[in-house]
Amino acid sequence: MCSIKTKIENPVCINCKENGHLASWKGCPKYPVIRNNTSPTYAQKLKSNLQKPNSTPTPPVNKPIPQIDADIFDKFEKNMNALKIINDAFNKFPNLIEISEKIKMAKTDMEIVSLLLKIFKH
Ligand SMILES: [Zn+2]
Repeated sequence: MCSIKTKIENPVCINCKENGHLASWKGCPKYPVIRNNTSPTYAQKLKSNLQKPNSTPTPPVNKPIPQIDADIFDKFEKNMNALKIINDAFNKFPNLIEISEKIKMAKTDMEIVSLLLKIFKH
């Protein structure tokens, strides 16, 4: 008989010592909340300014990521993926830039058409 159960029947919170939830539960009265209005010390400010010039002081590293930031990151990741796909597509035509420069200089439509056809010839 295996006595190990995947589901914890009666979890005990290590933060508030209450039964029924885990310490990672956000509804816990003792759930660690990092306040945004706690201003960094002068030394911290100085340090972050030295590390990253022309930037605002960075938030604490272990700050829980709010939902809005997760959405932005998700969008960012999708955009990055799209850029990668487009970049891969452009890499199939390594002469694209060279030909576009020639098209810019082209004087006749026929010249442009023949240059465009060259893009697809490897
Ligand atoms: Zn708790």
